[in-house]
Amino acid sequence: MNPVSSLSLPARYRGRFAPSPTGPLHFGSLVAAVGSYLDARAHGGDWLLRIEDVDAPRMVPVAADGILRTLAGFGFEWDGEVLVQSRRLDRYHAALVRLQVDGDVYPCACSRSEIAAATRQPSVDGGLVYPGTCRAGLADGKAARAWRLRVPDQTLSFVDRVQGEVHQNPLRDVGDCVLLRADGQYAYQLAVVVDDAAQGVNAVVRGVDLLDSTARQMFLQQRLGLPTPTYAHLPVVVNAAGEKLSKQTQAAAVTPSDGSARLALAMDFLGHPVPSELRGVPVADFWRWAISVWSMSRVPALRGVFPGDLAEIGNGARGVSGAIPAGNG
Ligand SMILES: [Zn+2]
Repeated sequence: MNPVSSLSLPARYRGRFAPSPTGPLHFGSLVAAVGSYLDARAHGGDWLLRIEDVDAPRMVPVAADGILRTLAGFGFEWDGEVLVQSRRLDRYHAALVRLQVDGDVYPCACSRSEIAAATRQPSVDGGLVYPGTCRAGLADGKAARAWRLRVPDQTLSFVDRVQGEVHQNPLRDVGDCVLLRADGQYAYQLAVVVDDAAQGVNAVVRGVDLLDSTARQMFLQQRLGLPTPTYAHLPVVVNAAGEKLSKQTQAAAVTPSDGSARLALAMDFLGHPVPSELRGVPVADFWRWAISVWSMSRVPALRGVFPGDLAEIGNGARGVSGAIPAGNG
């Protein structure tokens, strides 16, 4: 694959926000929502919503409704219908069948413990690099548990609008990734590629914890004959220990009653300091101002920022540049 320059934005911008309903919206997700919304609106584009609940065992059914209510309460206005991944399993199945027919995926019999016994090579996404055990076929007497994407042993490159040039050799850095899991669930990597194309998304703005998934997703787009969007990976909010905010790290929920003061904190975080007279104004007034000043070029090219360090974002003094374990989004 040739290096892909992802800096020139399309004529009609279509962006999206894709939360996973694992709990209420927290400040970390709010930052991703604000960044993707402002970039879409500042380009006169569309902003779509998608509920990424394909990873069913982790999901909280009522959380999706709560997230939508919270976004509406903060004054976000989305375009079109909300796409819900758990209602789209037939689409993921069709994509997997195409990959099977083309020989781009293969059955894998390995359990987690067998992989752990075969390799100690850490993967960029926090797991282990798949050692390729089943790449040339299942061993005698072994039954398929999962289906894996055959990723290339080749450096893939792209230009991220925030993080700059990114290079990854998917085979060496991650290994062949699972698209259909042993528990019968489709993997996020497959669903996100199918859905971005289905929604016509051509500009992805999301948290940097997904930066290391991007090369794989671009390869998958190519194999499925789908277009590749531009990418902008925002720094993620980390706690004092440097961990991404999530339900697991006890991130506090945000509520619309926090109003524009909370939106202002998200803007500060994204390199757009908010004048004091705009903190606490009605959200409609806040958005009018925010859309008029938004520029992706002002977002700090950092992987993680601890909000206690907000005053220092400008010089990057306490930003985190190391790996952030992956989530969805
Ligand atoms: Zn295997």
